[in-house]
Amino acid sequence: MKYLNIAAAKPKVGVFSLTCCEGCALQLANKEETLAAFLSAVDVVNFREISSDKSDDYAIALIEGSISREDEVASLKAIRDRAKVLVAYGTCACFGGVNRLKNVLDFDWMNREVYGETPKATSPVRPVREVVPVDFEIPGCPVSKAEVERIVTHLVLGLPFAYPVYPVCVECKQRFTVCRFDLGELCLGPITRAGCNAPCPAGGLGCWGCRGPAEAPNYEEFLELARSRGIGDAELRERLSFFGGFDSAYELAQDEPLAVRPVA
Ligand code: SF4
Ligand code: SF4
Ligand code: SF4
Repeated sequence: MKYLNIAAAKPKVGVFSLTCCEGCALQLANKEETLAAFLSAVDVVNFREISSDKSDDYAIALIEGSISREDEVASLKAIRDRAKVLVAYGTCACFGGVNRLKNVLDFDWMNREVYGETPKATSPVRPVREVVPVDFEIPGCPVSKAEVERIVTHLVLGLPFAYPVYPVCVECKQRFTVCRFDLGELCLGPITRAGCNAPCPAGGLGCWGCRGPAEAPNYEEFLELARSRGIGDAELRERLSFFGGFDSAYELAQDEPLAVRPVA
């Protein structure tokens, strides 16, 4: 049996990092109790966090991080050419992530502030899918190791994988967490894809939307709810732009509402 053109044998896997904190790669290398089982299902041939091997022969490429320099474009295209399946994992790779916050800044000013007399090459941040075709995206900042392992196992076994279509609120309610809106705080749970088990509301934070939009999110209803709790558009825009997955909702969260446009 095959899935995404991968035979159900032990495939060679390469794990690569673009611009990011490498927290997603660390998630994969962490939690030793499942690492051995994970490594027994795949043959990791390139993953600098855990091995000095650097083979270019792999069937599955896992990419974390976003593109924020032009030289990363060539590296990413070369990986795409070699891999049968390319997986963007982590919010940076899927949406640009927190790196995208720099896109609204003046790059010369930013370079001077950060690097002083030794400016670095930099370009607007893009998610992986804007540069090469992506076969699968695994959102999360950081990703859940259990979810990555589940998805890679599905790829290896040739089984399709589906994310929950419902939003974070469903999992939040299952945990009996007090709603952050009832405490007068903002939460993106009603429009964000579930699958994380809603740790942030349970931990005293609202959801910041690191997993991107749920299926067919109702942005108008969400904005109405937030505004009815006294949350202003400036706070909404800050939250909606934080990880880069809610451009459509961001455009609606203006003091002068813009016309509704289809969700990408
Ligand atoms: S998604 Fe989050 S944890 Fe993963 S690399 Fe980006 S910033 Fe780090
Ligand atoms: S706290 Fe957030 S995720 Fe939980 S029910 Fe309220 S809006 Fe939904
Ligand atoms: S609750 Fe929201 S911000 Fe927290 S992990 Fe889940 S999707 Fe990400």
